[in-house]
Parts: sequence; structure tokens; C-alpha cells
Amino acid sequence: MKRDPSHATRTAINPRALLNRIGQGRHFLQIPGPSNVPDRVLRAIDFPTIDHRGPEFQQLGLRVLEAIRPIFGTTNPVIIYPASGTGAWEAALVNTLSAGDHVLMVETGHFATLWKKLAEKLGLKPEFIAGDWRHGVDCGLLESRLKEDRSRNIKAVCVVHNETSTGVLSDIAAVRRAIDAAGHPALFMVDTISSLGSAEYKHDAWGVDVTISGSQKGLMLPPGISFNAVSDKAIAASKAASLPRAYWGWEEIIAANRTGFWPTTPATNLLYGLAEALDMLFEEGLANVFARHQRHAEATRRAVRAWGLEILCKNPAEYSPILTAVVMPKKSDGAHHNADDFRRLVLERFNMSLGTGLAKLQGWVFRIGHLGDFNDLSLVGTLGGVEMGLQAAGIPHQPGGVQAAMDYLAGRSDS
Ligand SMILES: *Cc1c(COP(=O)(O)O)cnc(C)c1O
Repeated sequence: MKRDPSHATRTAINPRALLNRIGQGRHFLQIPGPSNVPDRVLRAIDFPTIDHRGPEFQQLGLRVLEAIRPIFGTTNPVIIYPASGTGAWEAALVNTLSAGDHVLMVETGHFATLWKKLAEKLGLKPEFIAGDWRHGVDCGLLESRLKEDRSRNIKAVCVVHNETSTGVLSDIAAVRRAIDAAGHPALFMVDTISSLGSAEYKHDAWGVDVTISGSQKGLMLPPGISFNAVSDKAIAASKAASLPRAYWGWEEIIAANRTGFWPTTPATNLLYGLAEALDMLFEEGLANVFARHQRHAEATRRAVRAWGLEILCKNPAEYSPILTAVVMPKKSDGAHHNADDFRRLVLERFNMSLGTGLAKLQGWVFRIGHLGDFNDLSLVGTLGGVEMGLQAAGIPHQPGGVQAAMDYLAGRSDS
């Protein structure tokens, strides 16, 4: 029988084969996104793709467009794009701004830096408040910069809620208060790509104009859809803004969404998954979901401290409930033990993926994701993999991190 010559290539990239190579049992995907997709969501996605102009799709569309709103804490429309989070970043900017507009952004880490570069490519003039990648938004600095802007050149303030590269969560309500204290009319845009569905968020109450999010982190879906939640002020700004936009334009999408449809082909199967993931979040209760993330983050930090390792985030009030970035200890020559060698060993020996250090954190920081579909035993397994990895790699540490986490998890909530 004649074989299709591309056959060998196709089997070589079979992800199942890749997983079998590194062992049996479930792979621990403990990067801070994509997060583990729950079986319920995988099953919900595994249905026929239907006519996206038909009556069954309409029911699905109306349902997800309504159910997503409380996740953002909004009663306004939420636009859903078939795109990764980066697409939703771009959509937020091109819908509301014009070429040459000044935007004020804050250097919390790698993702804030990428968003700023994207703004530059679009012809905007981002001003970056410098940061050390170990703190969140400095509201005092932001307020004084806005007060100086007497001619109101700054058209938007853009911040990242959970900086996924550093494990630092900024206080969005405090950023809003800083903008108000300066009496500045700029639009307020927030990236919640890694925090939505894992940390409390209130688009309306915090006076956010555009909230950007993605599917593959707290929402427990595969990558592929992303979001813009919008305020009335953002919609008004979109009528006057003149950056070119076609695919990302809100107006046509919001108009089609009124009857449950999209102007272009939506990611139907991911919307099945979204409906299921939203059910799961509401069944658990959002307050419980957020408390669970806080609890697992606290247990993780107790483990890190017991190992004698350093947490990258400097300010305890800004610890991320979603991930913990850990600094590798130093060798006698002053260089850090290599974080990526350590991660490779953990993957090969224990079938667990940890997050790499991004950009200037590469090689000396690794990240433990504790978000999404996660429970006490998945956390103990995760921390067990880290502790065994530290031992197997000969990285200096104290034992007892997993024990410290278990003591916290098994004890009373105030222990
Ligand atoms: C993951 C992430 C992004 C990038 O999203 P993509 O889906 O990779 O395009 C942007 N911002 C933050 C905070 C993120 O965590």
C-alpha cells in the first residue's frame, strides 16, 4: 500500500506520543496558563460543530454572552473573539484610540512590556512608568503623572491586573482611585488575561472602560478565544476613534450578538466549553473559587519559604493568587542555579511542566501555576514534584516545604 509521504511527519508531532514518552499518569501542567482543562470542559467541547447561523447555535450564543458578564462584574456587553489574548489587547486599543494618541502604561513585567510594544506597532505613543518586575502598579506615581498632564494628552491608562511573568497582582480599585484623584478623563484598560475567573474582578464597580481577557488561564478552557468587556464610555470613544480596524471592530459584533450570532465564524466548540466552564464556576460560587485560589497560593508560599527559597514578588499585599514566581538560589560563584535545567529535570522525571522565567527573568526564576481546575491534592502533587526536583537536581534547599503546605491545607483555615 502506498503511504502518504506526510504520514511520518504527522505521527511525529502527535501530542499523545509526546506524553507517552514522558510517562503514564496525568501530566501536571503547572504553568500559569494554559491551565489544566477539566474533563467536564473537554467533554463539552467534544460535540459536532453546528451551523453558526442556526437556531441551536443561537441558544448557545445568547447563553454564553449573558453568562460571561458576571465573571467580569459587568452588565454591559462582552465581546468574544476567536483569538488568543494578544488579539483582545489589540482590539481594545484599535477600537478606542487614534494614531499618535498618548497612552500611559506601567512596567509590571514581561506582559506589560509586550502590550506596550504592541501599542507602539499600532502607531500609539505609550509612556512607560518604569518598574523592577517585583512590584505592582505604583498608584502614587501614576496619580502624579496624570496630574502633570494638564493638557490631557494621555488618552488611556493601561495596566495588567495579574502580571503572569512575576506573580504580582495589582490593586485595580486603587488605580481607579488614583485616576479619579487626578481628575483625569483618560480611558482605563485592564488586562485580566490570567486573573479572570481566579481573582476577584469588578469591571463596572472599579470603573474600568475595557477589560481584556483570554480563555486558557482562569477560565479553564483551551487557548483560542479572548474577550473585551466594555463600558459605555469606551463605546462612545470607539465612535470617535480613528485607528484602522476591521476584524476587531466592536460595533458589528455587538450588533450581531444582540440575537446570539457573530458576523464571522465563531469558535463554536470553544463556546460549548465556555458554557460548561461558566457552569462550573457558578456551581462552586465565585467567592469560593477566589478563596480556593488564595488558599493554594498561601500554601505554595509556605512551601517556598520552608525550602528557604525566595518569592519574586516583594510586597505581600500584591502576592498573586494565580501563580508564584520563585528565585533560584545562588551558587558559591554568585550565579543562580539554572531554573530551566531544573524545569527540564522535573519534566523528565516527574511529568510536570513548570513555568519558565520570561525575558530578563529567564534562567533564574521559575513559576508554579496554581490556578484553574485545581484542588488540595493537585497542589500537594505539584509541590511534591518541585521538592523532589530540587533534591534530584542537587539544588540547596531545606526539606519540609510539602509538609508545611500540607499542615496549612489540613489545618483550620486560620492556621
Ligand atoms: C497569557 C497572557 C497574555 C498573552 O495572551 P496570549 O493568549 O498568549 O496571546 C497577555 N497578558 C497576560 C497577563 C497573560 O497572562
